[in-house]
Amino acid sequence: MRLGAPLSARQIVFVVGCALLVFWFLLGMIPAVFAPARESARRTACQSNPNQIGRAIFMYADVPANNSQPPPSLNLLLSPAYIADKRCFWCPSCKAHADNDYAYVPGLKLTGAEEKRLVLAHDAKLYHGEGRNVLLTDGTVEFMREAEFWKALKEGLGPTPPSKNTPQEPKPSGTDGARQQAR
Ligand SMILES: [Zn+2]
Repeated sequence: MRLGAPLSARQIVFVVGCALLVFWFLLGMIPAVFAPARESARRTACQSNPNQIGRAIFMYADVPANNSQPPPSLNLLLSPAYIADKRCFWCPSCKAHADNDYAYVPGLKLTGAEEKRLVLAHDAKLYHGEGRNVLLTDGTVEFMREAEFWKALKEGLGPTPPSKNTPQEPKPSGTDGARQQAR
């Protein structure tokens, strides 16, 4: 084929076919390119759920009749007084929602920023691939990778870092001795 010579019909079909193949290939790549960004957005959206659950737990404990104790079950928080929208218990990255996509560790003492923190609630499964959103007994929420999560579940974490804003003011009159290790 000479340069500048007009293309034959076969050559045009070949060039157009190649262009279409490249186009379809790139089109197929789009979901893979944007998937990590979408999961990152869902992980961030998920954090607002344990954050709200944490606020509701502190509100529940603040009711005098509840004697500074967190609820024995998260189901008790699904009420207009605490959390009216059931979707607050659904992780955005969970494909098939259970009643509650967050696991809860009952019987823990709510802590202040200067105290040891324990895992209070967390993504029940590895919805976010490499880790989970975790609510701690000071009311803060952190994303933890698996090894970090299981260590925190077993041993707890140190006091709230200064960079974290504690969303609730824990009651100073919490019941002593109620802190338990997560099982
Ligand atoms: Zn989640």
